Amino acid sequence: MALIVHKYGGTSMGSTERIRNVAKRVAKWARAGHQIVVVPSAMSGETNRLLGLAKELAPAKPDTAYSRELDMLASTGEQASSALLAIALQSEGQPSVSYAGWQVAIKTNDAFTKARIQSIDDQKVKADLNAGKVVIITGFQGVDDNGNITTLGRGGSDTSAVAVAAALKADECLIYTDVDGVYTTDPRVVPEARRLQTVSFEEMLEMASLGSKVLQIRSVEFAGKYKVPMRVLSSFTPWDIDIHEEAASGTLITFEEDEQMEQAVVSGIAFNRDEAKISVLGVPDKPGIAYQILGAVADANIEVDVIIQNLSKDGKTDFSFTVHRNDYAKTIDLLKEKVLPSLGVAEVLGDAKICKVSIVGIGMRSHVGVASKMFRALSEEGINIQMISTSEIKTSVVIDEKYMELAVRALHKAFDLDQA
Ligand code: ASP
Ligand code: MG
Repeated sequence: MALIVHKYGGTSMGSTERIRNVAKRVAKWARAGHQIVVVPSAMSGETNRLLGLAKELAPAKPDTAYSRELDMLASTGEQASSALLAIALQSEGQPSVSYAGWQVAIKTNDAFTKARIQSIDDQKVKADLNAGKVVIITGFQGVDDNGNITTLGRGGSDTSAVAVAAALKADECLIYTDVDGVYTTDPRVVPEARRLQTVSFEEMLEMASLGSKVLQIRSVEFAGKYKVPMRVLSSFTPWDIDIHEEAASGTLITFEEDEQMEQAVVSGIAFNRDEAKISVLGVPDKPGIAYQILGAVADANIEVDVIIQNLSKDGKTDFSFTVHRNDYAKTIDLLKEKVLPSLGVAEVLGDAKICKVSIVGIGMRSHVGVASKMFRALSEEGINIQMISTSEIKTSVVIDEKYMELAVRALHKAFDLDQA
């Protein structure tokens, strides 16, 4: 007997028919003798619908009173889907009880719309499990010290599930979703993309932060911190598929390097077109300049990703960085108004039509020439690299957005990712 947490995404919970299927699957796991906790998302589209209603009444604003109500509102999506699942389980003859975050309680800080989990009380849940019930806990939400309902940010149910698994010391956290695992890259861009049987936690962390949308990045951080065994698998297999086959399907996120079955140097290619590039030209090459430029950007709460400073010539240098595309215009205005005048610099250039393509693999630690192989593959396609950034297990390049798909396909091929 094992204690297992199942998480079902919005598409898997998308209709009463699908909820019934989830119930049948969960009941099968319970009948096999396991203790099951389920963390569902809201039915697909529901969170957007609710937040849309709020926007009709008043445009989004960074205001605590408003954000508090957004959480009060959005959390109802998960409350509804959790209750529906409990009803469906009961109608399958499986005793079940659902709880909202505050009832458990899942304690968070008070950062509305992006709260962080601080503690989870496992008492009630353990008692119900021991009484033979399937326990359903709403994803995405918690409660702060003052009893206010909070939410964990979009996609936050993944994090709820992993946090619940960590608190209960579950044997595994199964993330059921509308794809059947983690792929070498997005199959919509590269049809030859393969599902990975295992991926290391560090690679998953990079892929999640670089734009792979399979898991919310905070859930991966959580899994890493508490060593929660986590598997991404499909909720669209028939519910009555053999349980052992199901338990071994999808992609397992591993913590030990030698657990890694596939010894590929590069495990995946990530990409995103959410960024824009900004260059400040001819800035004086002296202490404090990076701080003057990026400090102003950070003070405006704008996140910066890739940063490059060129070699200086005649005491001047060029300074480039990327920001989220939504922050592009704001950043340019800010630099023109607040930073350039004090630097005595005239020129700021920008380009919003860029994308970032990255290769990720823990094998990069122990192999040389990986980045140069990447650059060769891009050059063979005539793709110009505008910026480069590296870490121990990834290399990212910023290129013209129009070459994104070509670059991803070329790299997938160059690193033999289509071959098992
Ligand atoms: N329902 C929330 C959202 O749509 C949380 C989740 O699905 O993970 O972002
Ligand atoms: Mg999701």
